[in-house]
Amino acid sequence: MNQHAFQQVSQNSPEAIPIEVSRIEGREWWLWGFAVSVTLALTLGIMSFTFPWFNRETDVAYWFDLREWVRALAALVLLFDLYAIYQHLQLQRIRRQLAERDQLFQLISENAADMIALVDSDGRRLYNSPAYQKVLGYSPEELRATSSIEQIHPDDRQRVLKAAEKARLSGQGERVEYRMRHKDGSWRTLESTACAIRNARGQTDKLVIVNRDITERKRAEEMLVHNALHDGLTNLPNRALFLDRLQHALTLSKRHSNYKFAVLLIDVDEFKIINDSLGHTAGDELLIQIGQRLKDCVRRADMVSRPRISDIPGRPTNDDTLARLGGDEFAMLLDDIRDPIEAVRVAERVQAELVTSFVVNKQEIVISASIGIASSTSPHTQAEDLVRDADIAMYRAKRAGKARCEVFDTAMHANAVKRLKLETDLRKALDQGEFRVHYQPIVSLETGKITGFEALTRWQRPEGLLPPIEFIAVSEEIGLIVPMNRQLLREACQHLRSWQTEFPSSPPLTMSVNITPKEFAQPDLASEIRKSLEQTGVDPGCLQLEIIETIAMGDAEKSGHVLSQLKALGVRLSIDDFGTGYSSLSRLRRIPVDTLKIDRAFILHMDSDPDSREIVRIIIMLAHNLGLKVVAEGTETQQHINLLKQLNCEMAQGYFFSRPADDQDMLKRLARNHSARATSVGR
Ligand code: C2E
Ligand code: MG
Ligand code: MG
Repeated sequence: MNQHAFQQVSQNSPEAIPIEVSRIEGREWWLWGFAVSVTLALTLGIMSFTFPWFNRETDVAYWFDLREWVRALAALVLLFDLYAIYQHLQLQRIRRQLAERDQLFQLISENAADMIALVDSDGRRLYNSPAYQKVLGYSPEELRATSSIEQIHPDDRQRVLKAAEKARLSGQGERVEYRMRHKDGSWRTLESTACAIRNARGQTDKLVIVNRDITERKRAEEMLVHNALHDGLTNLPNRALFLDRLQHALTLSKRHSNYKFAVLLIDVDEFKIINDSLGHTAGDELLIQIGQRLKDCVRRADMVSRPRISDIPGRPTNDDTLARLGGDEFAMLLDDIRDPIEAVRVAERVQAELVTSFVVNKQEIVISASIGIASSTSPHTQAEDLVRDADIAMYRAKRAGKARCEVFDTAMHANAVKRLKLETDLRKALDQGEFRVHYQPIVSLETGKITGFEALTRWQRPEGLLPPIEFIAVSEEIGLIVPMNRQLLREACQHLRSWQTEFPSSPPLTMSVNITPKEFAQPDLASEIRKSLEQTGVDPGCLQLEIIETIAMGDAEKSGHVLSQLKALGVRLSIDDFGTGYSSLSRLRRIPVDTLKIDRAFILHMDSDPDSREIVRIIIMLAHNLGLKVVAEGTETQQHINLLKQLNCEMAQGYFFSRPADDQDMLKRLARNHSARATSVGR
């Protein structure tokens, strides 16, 4: 234990003590000076009385007699003694305080969990607290044999030396984090502050360094950062980290024109089906395996001898080039490519790699992926924009038939902008009530009377009424169709109810509404329909739900379940646009539909094309065999009506009777229909 060191440290702290000590020491010098002066004066005084040559007659009048002298001197000596005793007591008090502080410092440093060190100006160790052995494993002898800088990580040495230099110059160093080697070879992270001990001349000759072991805290922090930037399932970088790396690459490419890269957005085709059929655990396992394969692809893509043009500092490292953006979407950053064609080649390799079957839960799974590519040659400066471009290209690949790759181009961008605007406008339109319901009468070919209506949406825009072809598909994709059609259903039911009251008939008027795949997949479809029927007081038997063939014939178990739920409500079901999709006759027999609506494409060419006429005849015959009614859509001419009547078709709908129009128009037609007869209906 270096007692001297403690003394030095203690004297330096707190600041007031050395000042007081030097003041009292100064006074001690003064005291000594005073004592010597008094002694000299006393000696000279006694000598003047003792030696004859000092005793001059003429001076007698001026000198005190001996008694006065002795009295005065005695008083002076007494005063001096008192003052000396007082100063001595003061010094004793201060020395006691210093000893106490020494002891306190010793106690603290010996028992502190933090490592306390004292080093000289050359970095030589003068003292290390016992915590050093506990934290770093070195014995005091081992520490004494080495310099303080030796165990510091080479990469951190400069920073530590700089901080020490600052402490030396300013007295107090900055907090610095660095790594120090444990005796077992591992690295511990320390947080340290240094302060200087100055000598009497104000020069720094020692540093006290307090080190705290923050290895565990650092590890926990690193884990938190890792979790925030990585996907928990695949442990690949997540969207945030990918965007960060991409932003770096993008900034780099703007600065160095010869540095190019590409972004690949990889989306697994029909992943939802795999997830739904095999369960989410198997889906997760598959995603992990896909991530692993893509990782191998990145590694191989990197090994393919793409000449490295740019050895630019800050280039993304390989580890960061593959990410999982979420769900079944992965992204790859192809760094330092010469031509976008290289990205296409890598995309093809990725597709080839993913085509080989996966084994999950002992089950073989075959997948494909659609890939969108965007390259750094785009004018974008934001990473998100580049990912969005790749996303647009990826969607194009999906629409073009999946298992493909597409490179983003400017036409795609223009389309995407248009589409984005349409989506925004559609959402606003719903809030602002811009959708209108138009109705088209469905007419009985036997009586010529209106038996019901089909409700069809229109969008009221400043430029006029927009037909559904312009917006239904997008509404379906963004899910807006669900609230949109709920509104429509309620309004159509309200109108039907009031028309039924005003124009009673037997059977009562019906209302047909179209159900899209998205709506069909809503778990609350049946309950929503029931609510609308209850609120408007419409008899469920008067509501016809039109479903296209592909939904009705889709996944037997699922669609069968929904169809029977709907049927249980008492509503009627029609298959819309019949003949355009794929229908299995055996399925058709088993699903609870009431009506087939023949697609207008067949009706339209019925008079000129014998094949169409034959198809219509077969459909009607088939429907009748199955006990279903038939509605012919798109009837435009008297000839259509005549032919359909010959084929025993029950009902028709088309411009021949009426174009779709608003409720006021329908009201007038109903009034005429009620009094007049047959084929003149609505014309
Ligand atoms: P759809 O259900 O087959 O409706 C019939 C379509 O044929 C309507 O087109 C109608 O205007 C049109 N049409 C009727 N008669 C004739 C005719 O004689 N000649 C010709 N060329 N066309 C005729 P619209 O209103 O443009 O609707 C198109 C499709 O949009 C509808 O086909 C339906 O699938 C969908 N749709 C319309 N409104 C809605 C809606 O409110 N909800 C849902 N889910 N789908 C809707
Ligand atoms: Mg329809
Ligand atoms: Mg139709």
